[in-house]
Amino acid sequence: MIKRFLFFAFLFLMVRFSFAEGRLPHTTVPLHYAITIFPDLKNLTFEGKENVVFRVLTPTQTVVLNSLDLNITQAELSSPLFPKPLQPQIKINKETETAAFVFPKKLQKGTYQLELAWNGKISINPRGLFYVKYTSGKTQKILLSTQFESVDARRMFPCWDEPAYKATFQLSAKVPKNFLAVSNMPVESKQDLPDGQVLVRFEPTPKMSSYLLVFTEGDLKYLSGESDGVKIRVIAPAGEEQNGAFALAWAEKVLHYYDWYYGVKYPLPKLDLIAIPGGFGGAMENWGGITFNEALLLYDPQKSSEETKERIALVEAHEMAHQWTGDLVTMKWWDDLWLNEGFADWMMTKVTNHFFPKWHLLVRVAEDDNSAMTTDALATTHPIERPVPYGRLADSIFDEITYEKGAAVIRMIESYLGENTFRKGIDLYMHRYQYSNATSMDLWKALSDESHENIAPLALGWIRQPGFPVVKVESRCIHGKEILSFTQTPFTYMRERKLNYRWEIPITVETLGGKPKHFLLTSNQKITFNKNACNLPIVFLNQGYYRIEYSPELFQKVLAVVNQLSPSQKVHLLYDTWALAEQGSYPVSSYLDLVQPLSHMANLAVWAQILQAFQNLDVLEIGEPGRKKFHLYEQKILKPILTQIGWDEKPREGPTVAILRANVIETLGMADDKAVVEEAFKRFNAFLSHPDSLSPNLRPAVFRIVGRYADQKTFDELHKLGLQAQTTEQKYLYYNALYSALDPKLAAEALQISLSNELDPVSAVYGILGVAFSGEHPNLAWDFVQKHIKVLQARLPGMQLGFFLQNLIASFHGDPKGKAVGEYALKHFPKVVEPLIAKGLAINQLQAYLKAHMVPQVDAWVAKFLQSQKAAAN
Ligand SMILES: [Zn+2]
Repeated sequence: MIKRFLFFAFLFLMVRFSFAEGRLPHTTVPLHYAITIFPDLKNLTFEGKENVVFRVLTPTQTVVLNSLDLNITQAELSSPLFPKPLQPQIKINKETETAAFVFPKKLQKGTYQLELAWNGKISINPRGLFYVKYTSGKTQKILLSTQFESVDARRMFPCWDEPAYKATFQLSAKVPKNFLAVSNMPVESKQDLPDGQVLVRFEPTPKMSSYLLVFTEGDLKYLSGESDGVKIRVIAPAGEEQNGAFALAWAEKVLHYYDWYYGVKYPLPKLDLIAIPGGFGGAMENWGGITFNEALLLYDPQKSSEETKERIALVEAHEMAHQWTGDLVTMKWWDDLWLNEGFADWMMTKVTNHFFPKWHLLVRVAEDDNSAMTTDALATTHPIERPVPYGRLADSIFDEITYEKGAAVIRMIESYLGENTFRKGIDLYMHRYQYSNATSMDLWKALSDESHENIAPLALGWIRQPGFPVVKVESRCIHGKEILSFTQTPFTYMRERKLNYRWEIPITVETLGGKPKHFLLTSNQKITFNKNACNLPIVFLNQGYYRIEYSPELFQKVLAVVNQLSPSQKVHLLYDTWALAEQGSYPVSSYLDLVQPLSHMANLAVWAQILQAFQNLDVLEIGEPGRKKFHLYEQKILKPILTQIGWDEKPREGPTVAILRANVIETLGMADDKAVVEEAFKRFNAFLSHPDSLSPNLRPAVFRIVGRYADQKTFDELHKLGLQAQTTEQKYLYYNALYSALDPKLAAEALQISLSNELDPVSAVYGILGVAFSGEHPNLAWDFVQKHIKVLQARLPGMQLGFFLQNLIASFHGDPKGKAVGEYALKHFPKVVEPLIAKGLAINQLQAYLKAHMVPQVDAWVAKFLQSQKAAAN
């Protein structure tokens, strides 16, 4: 599954939650399901029936299946062991999300058939069987699809809804004649029904987990292709299918690469990539039928930006990687979810970098690592591998630790073992566990068998302990030899309690231009680096999930040669220095001193860090007297690079320059740069009469700047564009601009959208966070939330409420009001969202700490900087 989306990372988190639920008793296992569903598109209800063949492992009187919100009307058990079918008593338990079938006598070991019939509702939220209403041209249309991960297959049919209960599935469904119906496997047969509809039956699937079943039907069209003998289709709402061309060509390349990498060929006869319009969150790796929010699959060369293309490539590569890691080999239980997600995240960067080297993704991935490390340094963090006592809880663990930290740890182990050995270990793992389930330990075993080195001790430190280390490095010159000493401690923010974690850390040390030296830091140790010379400029290649803290002398040495470092070394140096300045181990000036020499080159990976740090500082400066001067400083640093790359795209510039340009312009706009704001308005007005005049790459930045400084007329223009936009990608572009309005009157108007039907319910409510963050109106947002809490809460299913509150608290950027909101939320909202409120409070507390110690340092540094600029100008 992909948890991230578009402009706000939190906009599309797919998480749901309810109360306690146990695991199924391991007395029975399913073998084969034959399921038929009969959706009623008018009344948004459905009927279902199934015939499931299962085996009794231990004699039992009760067969327990997962079932949620289904009205089971019929149940009958047959077996060659008894002449007449048995009718069980049915006990529904809403809390454990189960249906227990109690028989008059014990069922002995053997194979049985259970026939069930039920009815249920088609959901508006993407869980179980759900519907999407959307407009195509001027016509209202409806589409049905499914979303079962983590544990929502039970909302469509009673089943053993745990990943280890793999079985084969044969799905049939009644669909209107003009609809295209899609599932994991190709269509096996079609039968006309008396009511004019068609009964479509799909071929049986291979053995797989219940959460991977898929069904979609609608007025859909497709583009088709092929790779290694596998049929590939990109399916989209009719009229949009042409925008699937990029995704199709990309899927063909990726499938071929994965066939080679995993050493096991893609096992299904076809692969469908399905674009779902509206509010479907992220993307889901259903085997053979991947569903995507359409903005993550459809690329319109006339309207979509380079960033959209990159996002589509990454998300598609992520979901396709799951066809092996996740679908073919599945984690045994949710506590190893990271095996699915960390792996897919790591793989998406690897394959995309292979085919699009100009995006520099292997260097830019430092941004993802950093986002995980920020969460991982808070007191509320947790290990990658952690207990998930019951299935529903799995919904809450799709976070930065599972995805980005998981990927970073895999990358570190790959780098330690070497690319080739690592790949062979993965091939072994695939062959051993295909069509079955595995745990982390199985992965370490396969990698150890292949590399002839027990890597479990190294790996376990990273996945079973929370947090990560900072490695402190000191250098001393003794008798003409450079002695480096390394010590590791857990990296935390504001932590008083001493933590006793230790890691095995793969470290690389090199002198500038010299040969790298690799070693594993297990405890605190010293190494003699050079036999004959001291004072060589030494660089540390940080290729892992840790921070490097140089002693002040070493830091100065690195600073002196900073422009000679590789892009990757520069980026890691920036991230580490920034984090240490946040923590308080370095003065903020260390970081700002580093920015100057590094801000001259048009390297996106370097700039991504600088712009992120500037944005972090800018929000800390909100309401502070120094903000205006900080903006002047930002302008001084950013203007030269904008002059260098210009507003307009040039032929033959690399693809990352377009992304860099947009980000630099947007940051200058946020920093109130008069010339940039004026130019943005000029280009926006030209766009209104000639849409082609504005490059798709510049649109997000220009709209956002225009939205920020909008008057009523501009706001209305943006709103009109948002209402008229036909695709999800375009819609969010305009709405995000609206939410950015600084004018409180317009912000109040933007908040009203959350109560309307202009967007799907969850996206509409998440717009409030846009007003709080981008519009800088957390107080207005909170007042609005309090006033309309009943309506808003009803629009946020399950865990969405928790993520909403977490971000609302964080939007106060350390202001004590954020703490008060969090404390109020703890008292007034359901207990299940408490951990997320706690995370919001931890972020608020961290930002308060950062504000207190960083802002005065920044202000003093900026005053000195501006003074020196003035002096130089005179
Ligand atoms: Zn995933």
